[in-house]
Amino acid sequence: MRENDIIITYGSDASVMTRALLDAIDIESLIGDTNATIVLKPNLVVAVTPEGGATTHPEIVISIIEHLKDRGYHHITIAESAWIGDSTERGFAVNGYHAISGRYGVPLIDVKKDRYVTQSAGGITMEVSKTVLECDFLINLPVLKGHCQTAMTCALKNMKGCISDRSKRQFHTQGLHRPIASLNRVRSADLIIVDSICGDLDFEEGGNPVETNRIFAARDSVLSDAFGASLIGFTEEDIPYIHLAEELGVGSSDLSRMNLISLNEPSQQPLATPTGKAHSLTLHTEERSACSACYGTLIHALKRLDEVGRLKNLKHTISIGQGFKGVEDPKKVGVGSCTQGLGKSLPGCPPKAVDMAEFIKGLEQPPRHHS
Ligand code: SF4
Repeated sequence: MRENDIIITYGSDASVMTRALLDAIDIESLIGDTNATIVLKPNLVVAVTPEGGATTHPEIVISIIEHLKDRGYHHITIAESAWIGDSTERGFAVNGYHAISGRYGVPLIDVKKDRYVTQSAGGITMEVSKTVLECDFLINLPVLKGHCQTAMTCALKNMKGCISDRSKRQFHTQGLHRPIASLNRVRSADLIIVDSICGDLDFEEGGNPVETNRIFAARDSVLSDAFGASLIGFTEEDIPYIHLAEELGVGSSDLSRMNLISLNEPSQQPLATPTGKAHSLTLHTEERSACSACYGTLIHALKRLDEVGRLKNLKHTISIGQGFKGVEDPKKVGVGSCTQGLGKSLPGCPPKAVDMAEFIKGLEQPPRHHS
């Protein structure tokens, strides 16, 4: 796997999808020596299970451990810390990590109780987990989801679970973006496997999950986040820590250089009915047998438009799904290649949310400003 590769797979079985990614990655060539110490860093920001859209699916962790052990890698540790106010131990417990630890002989490190090494980068000083800092190979397992303060969280921000609570508090007083970039300058992941199965629409702690049923892998945390941002309707400008990390030499956000490898095509699966805020956004859609990757992406695009006040002027209903294949209707508009017979259609299978948002904006007149 090269530095500018993003490998993506679609499906509903996290174990099968992770194994397919690991086969494509050729992880042995990245890690090398079987004596290497390997740390897996999931997202257990709060003590809840993954269906809520906040935490990493444990099947991803299990599949990686089994894959590595089969290839002779036995020095594997899982390290994480919940956000301030929640217990990492409870997060481990509700997601079955104690059983995983026992079955595979993989220690669990609660970073809140780890030893720290004081490090500085980009003008920010922080206490970083010794376990994470000193490992030979760090695999970051973020959930791609919205965040109420930084708009999005993915690989770069997931590293915040690798510092002391004292440094987390300090990061918040320093505005989060620069500290997150600096932390990744100190230590960023060697491999990122992004859980984008059902990330939350806009909250780090979950509650409004949006099914997109995809997992993707990257080696460059900046590229991973620039790509992730586009999938949920943001540009890099919306998330300042992406460019700040790039300026500190963490990686490249240049999506034109990205080599996107799709292991399979999205397919139609039974869609879970979105709840809460996500459900209100579906009222702007006409869905006929849509793949979850496509439909979830449209929900994120509609959310972005709602945030800038462009949804209340939307006159069109956005068609989406395989049920529109072969339908010719000049009055309808749609997103995704399946809707190419409609009056206006955005190509792509699936298109990115950032492109969907631009397409939908182009359908409507901008709101009039009264002086
Ligand atoms: S364009 Fe059609 S086939 Fe492709 S992801 Fe969307 S709904 Fe599925």
